Amino acid sequence: MDARLKFAPCGYLSLADDGSILALNETLLEWLGYPLSDLQGKHVDTILSAPGRLFYQVYFFPLIRMHGTVKEMYLSLQARSGKSIPVLINAVRKEYDGILSNECIFTNMTQRYEFEQGLLAAKKSAEEATRSKNEAIAALESLKKDLEDKQQELLKLNAQLQILAKTDELTGLQNRRSFQESLADNIELFNRTNRPFSLLLLDVDHFKQINDTFGHSTGDFVLKQIAQVLMQSCRKIDTAARYGGEEFAMVLPDTDQDGAAAAAERVRSMVEASCWIEMPITISIGITTMLPGDQERQLLSRADQGLYTSKEMGRNRITHSAHLQAGS
Ligand code: GH3
Ligand code: MG
Ligand code: MG
Repeated sequence: MDARLKFAPCGYLSLADDGSILALNETLLEWLGYPLSDLQGKHVDTILSAPGRLFYQVYFFPLIRMHGTVKEMYLSLQARSGKSIPVLINAVRKEYDGILSNECIFTNMTQRYEFEQGLLAAKKSAEEATRSKNEAIAALESLKKDLEDKQQELLKLNAQLQILAKTDELTGLQNRRSFQESLADNIELFNRTNRPFSLLLLDVDHFKQINDTFGHSTGDFVLKQIAQVLMQSCRKIDTAARYGGEEFAMVLPDTDQDGAAAAAERVRSMVEASCWIEMPITISIGITTMLPGDQERQLLSRADQGLYTSKEMGRNRITHSAHLQAGS
């Protein structure tokens, strides 16, 4: 063999048609780690990896027999140490001295293979990182949505809580605290605008007797029915509240003495006309209308005097505090 071919920077292998090794150069022997004597005459399988053998049988040999040449085919050799050596083969089929041989040149692709493996690994880890990132973003978005849902729920609950805090449990009317807020608001509005408003205190007549005769739950039922009447006769701007026990209160904005008396009479007669239980239900009402300088105390006290007078005068009636002051 030519000395230059012996140590050329490529592997050289000459194969007989039966696959036996005819010749190899030093470069290939060095890659494989065999002395020449171990390989000469041996079958090429000795230096091929398992996939390389399959490749040789299925592609390389049929191709070179058919076309007389094989160009840039990848396969892997196997060194004596067991290490796999990826190579690129170019081969031609020639006849020398009447003997057909398959002349193969191997380009060692180890570095390129390792580089490609490195690239593949980097690509895989980049894909993995992208996938994890996308998963994290999706998880974050789902958490964000959960948080928004929870916030909405909280806002809803808060709104419900605010309504509950202002509502009387039995009747669904506003409770005493909410009534007091409404009264304070109306006083403030009057002090700024001088627009009249009126206050009604309503008390069920002989309610104790209703409880005693029909039981406490019937008493509760009557209170709820009266609350319905109050709600029906209310404008949007009015406040109807349960003041306590069997007493109710109404704040009527933009309502003067006559207007308040008319509203009170309407409620009184509606209750009187009802027949919820086997006993007539009536209410007594005290009315007052805001006067300059009034505080809650004065208003409540005058309405209460009106209510007291309604009771004294025989119940089931209305009394405006103005008539008391006028002495009528
Ligand atoms: P008057 O005509 O003078 O107002 O007589 P009255 O019986 O209505 O007045 P009194 O203050 O003597 O009695 C009020 C009764 O209302 C006593 C109490 O047991 C009852 N009561 C207070 N709160 C409730 C309630 O929530 N449900 C029921 N069923 N009864 C109540
Ligand atoms: Mg009472
Ligand atoms: Mg009563």
